Amino acid sequence: MNNIELPVEKEPEVKSTDDTSLLVIILDTNPGQKLLRENPNIITQVVDSVVAFGNSHLMQKAQNKLAILTCHSKTSQFIYPGPKKLLDVRQIDGQYEAFTLVEKTVKQNITSILSMENSGIVTESLLAGAVAMALCYIARIQRTKANGVKLNCRILVVTGSSDSASQYMNYMNVFFTSQKQNIVIDVCALDQHLSLLQQGCDITGGLYLKVPQVSALLQYLLWVFLPEPPIREKLILPPPVKVDYRAACFCHRELIDIGYVCSVCLSIFCKFSPICTTCHTVFKIPGPLAVKPKKKKIKM
Ligand SMILES: [Zn+2]
Ligand SMILES: [Zn+2]
Repeated sequence: MNNIELPVEKEPEVKSTDDTSLLVIILDTNPGQKLLRENPNIITQVVDSVVAFGNSHLMQKAQNKLAILTCHSKTSQFIYPGPKKLLDVRQIDGQYEAFTLVEKTVKQNITSILSMENSGIVTESLLAGAVAMALCYIARIQRTKANGVKLNCRILVVTGSSDSASQYMNYMNVFFTSQKQNIVIDVCALDQHLSLLQQGCDITGGLYLKVPQVSALLQYLLWVFLPEPPIREKLILPPPVKVDYRAACFCHRELIDIGYVCSVCLSIFCKFSPICTTCHTVFKIPGPLAVKPKKKKIKM
């Protein structure tokens, strides 16, 4: 038998083993979203899946951290860790107390928020505002962490709403802030395709997935969103879809393919306007291109 020298297999370098990772989940519980209007009971299943997913994140490493916030039509609020003082939990059925604490706190806070919300009025969820809150929370944790601790942060948005172009500016601001702070934004769409949030995933290096079946939400969360971003490149995940990079015009907040851009402040407009509404620069009205008169041949 020939001796075939096999290349020495290097241990894959996973640098994130000693790092703490903070996961902030934004859960859209706006009763106005189409998914919940059609089937209000599905919220129980979505909350259960998100809690199980959050606990799986805590289970991966003892130093991992978790925060969950809900997003509504008028407000966004932290539901774990909640605004009130920590609940006093005892071990139930052998479940680890930290997991019971997450589950109880989340359910208690969601119940109190949903009882305040008026489900009769359909308004869009303030997703961009919720991402901004998550970024502020992460900034605070980064500032107060112990010296020498490396903190990897990411945000996961779970929503059945559609993203509206009226929040276009707010979205772009939070996406580019996240990119600058090295915070990955993942998006799990439950019902509708979200083109603006998909741009956010692309900008920050996160994953975008529209779940084919909400009943299998937990499986999709565990498969796609549980692995940390450095580990993801070693896995076979759903292939990236083509990102729709259309921008919203500042005048009507509608997505456009071609438009006018102010050369001073880069505001986008779908129609020409002689004064930029953002920075008040005055432009010349574009007339027909001036054609130079041909020189007449001088007869000798
Ligand atoms: Zn417009
Ligand atoms: Zn301008």
